[in-house]
Amino acid sequence: MMPVFFSPIPLDPNRYFCNMNRVLHLLRLLAVCSTALSALACSTSKQADLLVFNATIYTVDSAFSTAEAMVVNDGRIIATGNAADLRGRYETKETLDAGGRFIYPGFIDAHAHFMGYADGLRNADLTGTGSWDEILERLELFAKDHPDGWLLGRGWDQNDWPGKQFPDNKKLNELFPGRPILLTRVDGHAAIASQAALDLAGLRAGDRIAGGEINILEPMIGSAETGPKTLSGLLVDNAVRLVSSKMPAASREEMKKSVSIAEKNCFAMGLTTIDDCGLTVDAVNGITEMQQAGLLKMRLYVMLSDDPRSLDYMEKNGILETERLTVRGIKLYGDGALGSRGASLLAPYSDKPGYLGFLLSQPAHFDSAAARIYAKGYQMCTHAIGDSGNRTILKIYASHLKGKNDLRWRIEHAQVINPADFDLFGQNSIVPSVQPTHATSDMYWAETRLGGERVKGAYAYQQLLKQNGWLPLGTDFPVEDISPFRTFYAAVARKDGSGYPTGGYQVENALTREQAIRGMTIWAARANFEETKKGSLESGKYADFVILDKDLMKSPEASLLETTVWMTWLNGEKVFEKK
Ligand SMILES: [Zn+2]
Repeated sequence: MMPVFFSPIPLDPNRYFCNMNRVLHLLRLLAVCSTALSALACSTSKQADLLVFNATIYTVDSAFSTAEAMVVNDGRIIATGNAADLRGRYETKETLDAGGRFIYPGFIDAHAHFMGYADGLRNADLTGTGSWDEILERLELFAKDHPDGWLLGRGWDQNDWPGKQFPDNKKLNELFPGRPILLTRVDGHAAIASQAALDLAGLRAGDRIAGGEINILEPMIGSAETGPKTLSGLLVDNAVRLVSSKMPAASREEMKKSVSIAEKNCFAMGLTTIDDCGLTVDAVNGITEMQQAGLLKMRLYVMLSDDPRSLDYMEKNGILETERLTVRGIKLYGDGALGSRGASLLAPYSDKPGYLGFLLSQPAHFDSAAARIYAKGYQMCTHAIGDSGNRTILKIYASHLKGKNDLRWRIEHAQVINPADFDLFGQNSIVPSVQPTHATSDMYWAETRLGGERVKGAYAYQQLLKQNGWLPLGTDFPVEDISPFRTFYAAVARKDGSGYPTGGYQVENALTREQAIRGMTIWAARANFEETKKGSLESGKYADFVILDKDLMKSPEASLLETTVWMTWLNGEKVFEKK
């Protein structure tokens, strides 16, 4: 339709004149307005702190859209879009040319042990050891710099050794006579203690503990040994605590130093929020103190450990929420781990006839904790690995949640699920919180433990994602490496670093790249009730972001593990830059 002004219909000259006048007037008005508008634009070009440009910014908004620039002010993102447009609208104190690199929301690790990792930095690193003898060699080296007191180590995995047998403490006692030693398995669910450590804990052969095992040294078949049985030093699950509780606490200075190193390592990997799964009230107080003194910048989402003080804290204080610290969950342990056969299974282990593993507490304990947690609107987060462990916890959750809800109670690991139980997640809005590197770390022996049929319901991330339409991802470091790129690669490729197995492990449960990125950002934020504050790069959210040299959406699969972080920004502040 033509505008009226050019109307071919003959017009009454008066009206025509009148119209012409009106048009001229309008044009004049427009000219005045546009001058006024541009003047207005100049004078209202807003002040802001930082313009980041020349980037591909994956905003991880609901449409998964990208932008080439963004503006940050006062620790928050205030705009994303086209660089020229943003330059016109904002006058910034600083600009950052990203050099064509790729920007993602700061990574959120939905399940880790940040303080445990920091503690571990003071211990001998036993990860990647190929034999018990290699561990002894590393310990001898470590002991040169740490000649006194307890000798601590972490990270061994007998599945990586020839014979795959659990060790005993005989050689430890010979090499380090009288010295208390505790060497924790990679999953934290088993440890080997020296005789001196067992003595400090007062443990004797024949002692028992619920939810744990105190291993006895069996005499060699046909040997003449007849005397009283001795302990092998191997402790599983609750038994580990009998010894670890005797260790002296680190000094405040030691703790601060290792927390700073831990934070630095995490920033270098692009992490800006970490879920610390199971801390004491004392540890939370320590974190608060360090954050208030400016010694710790990392944002932490804390689940308190399952002890009476934590539950009292919850009932007295309710939810604690500051810019960098949230405390609103309780972490419970349903069962143990698959590697140390502590996971609770519905049918016996395929490689240990008649043995079912065990729950770490009676169901009544989980049930009464659930009632108290529910009453305070806290989040219940329970470790469950075996199909029986998962079923027990799912049913207890369901009995309190009674259908769809927004309490976001989580099952940590949700590792082996019976096919009949998957729907309990969706029906009760229970959040499976999974760690993709567990699939690729365990894939070599998981089928030996579970058998060919049962293993199909293990590490079933795509199937779990379908339950609620979202799925938070984590690492469980220091059980696994802190790197979110390993999480991403394991989630999408389902292979180890050497590319094994070709085609991927149980690849029907691989995640798409977009799903994996969401799992490490917005879905992890959602698992923490923080999706309105972080997890995507949208106006109003924290300016927590990471700049990478590679495009996680498009880089060839084999190169994903080589991804490096150029910069990490937290709250609009640069906290890491690659040198
Ligand atoms: Zn964990």
